[in-house]
Amino acid sequence: MTSTSLNIAIVGGGIGGLAAAVLLAQNGHRVRVFEQASRFARVGAGIQMTPNAMKVLRRIGAEPALRKIAFQSPAGISREWDSGKITNELKIGAEIEERFGAPYLFMHRADLHAAILAALPVGIAELNRKLVGVETSSRGATLAFDDGECVTADVVIGADGVHSLIRESMLGPEQPRYTGRVAYRTTFPAALMGSERITPVRTKWWGPDRHMVVYYVTANQDEVYFVTSQPEDAGWVTPESWSAKGDLNVLREAYAGFHPEVQAVLRACPEVHKWALLARDPLPRWVEGNVALLGDACHPMTPYMAQGAASALEDAAVLSRCLQDIGADGINAALRRYEATRKPRA
Ligand code: FAD
Repeated sequence: MTSTSLNIAIVGGGIGGLAAAVLLAQNGHRVRVFEQASRFARVGAGIQMTPNAMKVLRRIGAEPALRKIAFQSPAGISREWDSGKITNELKIGAEIEERFGAPYLFMHRADLHAAILAALPVGIAELNRKLVGVETSSRGATLAFDDGECVTADVVIGADGVHSLIRESMLGPEQPRYTGRVAYRTTFPAALMGSERITPVRTKWWGPDRHMVVYYVTANQDEVYFVTSQPEDAGWVTPESWSAKGDLNVLREAYAGFHPEVQAVLRACPEVHKWALLARDPLPRWVEGNVALLGDACHPMTPYMAQGAASALEDAAVLSRCLQDIGADGINAALRRYEATRKPRA
């Protein structure tokens, strides 16, 4: 091993984990990503990538592909739930790119994931690798997987999401608080709307106590996404899950008085997923020895500012810089520098 090539294990092959893997591999480190899923599924969800996130994706090499496939909205508008009156308009097309030096794009989450994965050298991401235990030592950490294998590494990055086992092993079980609200979301082919279409602009429909965001996730406007936020009884609260299904009838009922464009979307969508919106306090620390947390594992957010994945991408960029030209002796100091840089912003 040279003084700059570290053996780095990343647990979790989500947006944050894969982005960190690409950037750390670009720096010459020997990286392995361990992902519990057996395949990367195309779950029904769109995602907004703001210019800060796009700058990291540019460094990863994913920008040209995303520009081709993603939807670029000229504006983000707010509309009244019933009358449809526009109450606010934010220029997020060419103007925002000129101002911040990167575009603001809307895409399918799976297309974003695939674009990052395409930048990763083959063989680095390992599927069917569920972490069941982690032990830190003065020289790194040992990971135990459910297939019985143990892997040691100089550095371990816990990018294992909102239910992070690595965070739990570092800080104990957490006690998230239910906000009293849930998000329903899905993507579906625009053709299911028949002759009806959504306005080709990212639109937030504001009701008195609930709202819905609707946008296209593809450049050719053939796939629609929406995500809601609305109050719902605490009777139903399961851990956040990308696969938990919601009841379409309950959703349609909740938005019954909304504008005809919202009704058209809800009529056309064939199924919907549901996500409990939970709140958490900031963690006391993100680093222990040579183990660091990244993304939702250390700063899960409610989705209102569209910054969860963007923050995970920022984490990946800063982490890779902190671990540049570092020998084994400098790892803990580099990880603490990463935490000190990222924690206040996250
Ligand atoms: P994840 O994407 O959750 O990835 C974690 C990975 O770790 C998963 O693949 C999981 O299978 C794996 N894993 C977990 N445990 C183990 C284990 N024991 N062993 C091995 N692997 C394991 N953010 C934005 O920037 N823009 C948006 O528009 C936006 N919209 C959102 C809308 C909704 C409704 C929600 C809920 C979130 C939204 N977010 C958005 C936030 C964003 O989705 C998350 O912040 C982001 O996905 C976090 O990425 P991550 O890599 O940290 O975690």
